[in-house]
Amino acid sequence: MQTSTAAFPKKFDLLTPIISNEQVAQDHYLLRCACPEIARGALPGQFIHVLISQAGVLQAASLLLRRPFTIFTVEGEQISMLYQIIGEGTEVLSHLKPGDPLRVLGPLGNTFHIPLDLHPAIIVGGGAGIASLMLLAIALRKSGVRTLGLVASMNRARLLSVAELKRIGVEMHIATDDGSVGHHGFVTEILTQILEQPHAHELSQPMIYACGPDGMLRAVTKIAQDYRIPTQLAMENRMGCAMGVCLGCVCKVRMPDGGFEYQRVCTEGPVFNAAEIVW
Ligand SMILES: Cc1cc2nc3c(=O)[nH]c(=O)nc-3n(C[C@H](O)[C@H](O)[C@H](O)COP(=O)(O)OP(=O)(O)OC[C@H]3O[C@@H](n4cnc5c(N)ncnc54)[C@H](O)[C@@H]3O)c2cc1C
Repeated sequence: MQTSTAAFPKKFDLLTPIISNEQVAQDHYLLRCACPEIARGALPGQFIHVLISQAGVLQAASLLLRRPFTIFTVEGEQISMLYQIIGEGTEVLSHLKPGDPLRVLGPLGNTFHIPLDLHPAIIVGGGAGIASLMLLAIALRKSGVRTLGLVASMNRARLLSVAELKRIGVEMHIATDDGSVGHHGFVTEILTQILEQPHAHELSQPMIYACGPDGMLRAVTKIAQDYRIPTQLAMENRMGCAMGVCLGCVCKVRMPDGGFEYQRVCTEGPVFNAAEIVW
């Protein structure tokens, strides 16, 4: 299985006003901005690289490097990103207001591969990882692909995107660490239950798509190997330039000849064939 390597559209570096930046769950925000050029070319799994400043002025040297965020949705000329407050950059970002300028580079990276005979797709999102799977879910449902959505969060207050995914017809399964909603435990336990009963779930040629914490991705990869299900992962390694130059984001990838090489999440990824990742 190959992740798509189609010719990717030109990249644009735009200074654009924020349209909205609202809290959607505990420690999670949804930011919208108008980026017609990026919106026009954006593909599922692709990301933007955002320079975080206040009134266009950098607040600290630590914010010199841009931060990568997946394109969550595209609506007309607008794109959105769904982000979790992790550190300094995302904290500053969460205080920006409509009208504040944002410098956005994109669309960057490769895209998920959707086989023509796919039936069904299983998307597995851990925490803010679901942000990387929303455009994919929209594309799958538009193509009439039955889509099972497995989402995980620490608790009910941090649960993301369930209503939006249900609205487009994704069959949702939820897992929380504290059991406050859905399955009390790991989302990978739900995945195993589903794959244990392929007939009950009418699975014939499924594909798994996953994004989330490394531990979850490793567990998904192990399950996918056990059940021989092709799987694509959106990797979120820390990133410097996002242009393929600094090599800060590389991951180790198995080659067909048995060797391995380091590939850049920013340019060869972020979507990789799970079977090829060396953890
Ligand atoms: C291709 C790609 C797409 C992404 N899409 C999204 C998205 O849609 N939504 C979202 O919420 N996040 C996403 N991320 C992660 C996001 O880029 C980081 O959370 C963000 O850069 C953190 O910035 P910060 O300044 O707040 O944190 P920093 O101050 O830079 O770091 C705070 C702490 O978080 C750790 N950290 C920072 N970045 C990462 C990372 N990528 N992986 C693991 N630990 C990290 C640091 O080591 C440090 O301990 C994506 C990452 C990549 C590579």
